[in-house]
Amino acid sequence: MKTAIIGYPRIGENRELKFASEQFFRGEINEAELTKAAKEIRRKNLCIQKEAGIDFISSNDFSFYDNVLDAAVLFNIVPERYKKLGLGELETYFAMARGYQGNKGDVKALAMKKWFNTNYHYLVPEIDDTTEIKLVGKKPFAEYLEAKELGVETKVALVGPFTLLNLAKYTGTKKKEDFTDAVIEAYTKLLGYLNEIGAGWVQFDEPYAVKDIDAAEAQFFTQIYTKLLAAKGSVKVLLQTYFGDVRDFYDKLSGLDFNGIGIDFIEGRKSLELIAKGFPKGKLLFAGLVNGKNIWRNDYRKTLETIGAIAAKSGIGVEQIVLNTSCSLLHVPNSLKGEKRLTEDYKKHFAFAEEKLTELSEIAALAGLNDCSKDARFTTNQALFAKRIDTVDEAVKKRVAAIQDADYTRLPSFEERERIQKAKLNLPLFPTTTIGSFPQTTDVKKNRTQFKKGEITKEQYIAFNERKIAECIALQEELGLDVIVHGEYERNDMVEYFGEHLSGYVFTENAWVQSYGTRCVKPPIIWGDVSRKEAITVPWSKFAKSCTAKPVKGMLTGPVTILNWSFPREDITLRDSTLQIALAIRDEVLDLEANGIDIIQIDEAALREKLPLRKSDWYSEYLDWAIPAFRLVHSGVKAETQIHTHMCYSEFTDIIPAIDAMDADVITFEASRSDLQILDSLKEHHFKTEVGPGVYDIHSPRIPSVEEIVEALTKMRAKIDDRKLWVNPDCGLKTRGESETKASLLNLVKAAQCIRGEKG
Ligand code: GLN
Ligand code: ZN
Repeated sequence: MKTAIIGYPRIGENRELKFASEQFFRGEINEAELTKAAKEIRRKNLCIQKEAGIDFISSNDFSFYDNVLDAAVLFNIVPERYKKLGLGELETYFAMARGYQGNKGDVKALAMKKWFNTNYHYLVPEIDDTTEIKLVGKKPFAEYLEAKELGVETKVALVGPFTLLNLAKYTGTKKKEDFTDAVIEAYTKLLGYLNEIGAGWVQFDEPYAVKDIDAAEAQFFTQIYTKLLAAKGSVKVLLQTYFGDVRDFYDKLSGLDFNGIGIDFIEGRKSLELIAKGFPKGKLLFAGLVNGKNIWRNDYRKTLETIGAIAAKSGIGVEQIVLNTSCSLLHVPNSLKGEKRLTEDYKKHFAFAEEKLTELSEIAALAGLNDCSKDARFTTNQALFAKRIDTVDEAVKKRVAAIQDADYTRLPSFEERERIQKAKLNLPLFPTTTIGSFPQTTDVKKNRTQFKKGEITKEQYIAFNERKIAECIALQEELGLDVIVHGEYERNDMVEYFGEHLSGYVFTENAWVQSYGTRCVKPPIIWGDVSRKEAITVPWSKFAKSCTAKPVKGMLTGPVTILNWSFPREDITLRDSTLQIALAIRDEVLDLEANGIDIIQIDEAALREKLPLRKSDWYSEYLDWAIPAFRLVHSGVKAETQIHTHMCYSEFTDIIPAIDAMDADVITFEASRSDLQILDSLKEHHFKTEVGPGVYDIHSPRIPSVEEIVEALTKMRAKIDDRKLWVNPDCGLKTRGESETKASLLNLVKAAQCIRGEKG
């Protein structure tokens, strides 16, 4: 049985790409140096995969920022405003990714969205009526040849035309259908070049195919691929789907002239059923059986059973099956080698990208044996699934079982609370606030690292943070912000920090996963039953409150986000895991309230992340437990305690009733990088929760002008009742520099004053 990898993490074993790119952005290294660092990462990745004996290794899975952006640039989907800057190729690329502000002009970055149900973000290709889709780049060819030179024959991986056109945003009158011919021609050209350079395989990533595909979409897909496949020449084409199953679409898809079809058997609940309809002879089935999203060791027995079931149900021979990961390994950390602190008791249960390579090889080898039950690879693996240490906490299990329906409801009603809170807090119209974090400058990070390494005492660590909090509050007062935050200097990350104060968590040192561009996150691992060990944020919030007469907003991460940004357990349900976390955060909420904090923000930045990709599954499989879990966290507070929540990205237009049902008092969210369409929907649904749609983009170093913010607010006022509108940036400021933060917030406050008619 052969083995394949859809894509490998590209940030580098020690985040080399991140550091090199950041140096490049700061002008400390030049383009040649950055390119060299990138090449070295690609070389290492290829070697690791080759040494592990993987048969189908991808090239072009590398990206300087994002692979959807790569495809857009490859096919000339570059809006005029970026071309007009007259920058070099790579700099134009980065301008699209990060925005540009300099002597050549001032443009915002492209919109950024979550990549399906992951925490990876892609840049949204923007197509207008003048866009001419055509092949203009050479990255896939260059990277294929580069690999070949290193002695590795690869399949060339790139985003397929169906997903590309479906993810793009159309700003003119033309729609995706108007670009069908152009896109077919462009990809045909690509196939032509691949033939010329002698590439054996191309992999078109089409995760969009696992969404709800109606007859028209299926037709669109068929139309594109029928033509493309007729032009493939001697290049073999792999259609790679992931993050779910291809359901009603399977028959159409398997009838097309693909040489391989990649199907996800981990997240694709119906994949086995589909395969039972038969799988075409003469094609390879790339069976996604090793989880590309989670870090637990693969259960070889289960996987081998599934392989057997696939063969039996579909009637194909094992030689037609290629053992694959369920999605790109982009979503898991690089290698367990970087974990020095964790003991074997824990580590032996994990497989990161590199270890998954071994798993693929071992499973493939075992699948070829008549009886593998005595094989050491098999028995060692199976021993892992007997029992894990430190997982069960009976008290937690009991508490979850005792939750009553009433625990999910906060009283009194929203309207009653709104009245009480307005009278108590006495905030001006259009209250200004921030999302919580302030710049994590070098000194802040250093303080934390030194404390963790034991180089400074706890007292020193606390004293430093308290000084930062006091400064941060003085700054916010000086700027004139209405609701003050403490700045989150104690947090490395909005999930790991909470995990550290909860029982049941396990942490890694170097297990970074790319989130967007150069940003990586280090998700902690939910190992066992979760409960609150100790007060988490209370001392910091209490201290902050002592520094100011203005209202201080306590800052927590919500249970759904904690779950979604951790590596979850696979031995209990996500629902039960989330309820355990919800009870722990509920304890913290009540503790903050008892300590006089009367505004508490419970961030649910990642609420949408695990929303099923098919609408029909949204409520039954997710929202029906995720939203109540959030309510469980705050249902115990008094009417006068104001609960805020924050969501990154305003992509909740279609679940607005569910968001309102979170029953928070205020919600802030991203609105500056995407269009303001969300506002119409809020109005249409009579959204009751007060809202703070972000007035500027914090993912870019650009400073928004007062006029620009006033303009955004004016648009918002047309759709949102003045008494419900808050003014804030669209996310936390931790990744920004101090001076741009100060300048931006000052403009934000001025804009609020201006619309209040105070000045300006
Ligand atoms: N309170 C968090 C912060 O400001 C929210 C971060 C987020 O939404 N990603 O950093
Ligand atoms: Zn956010």
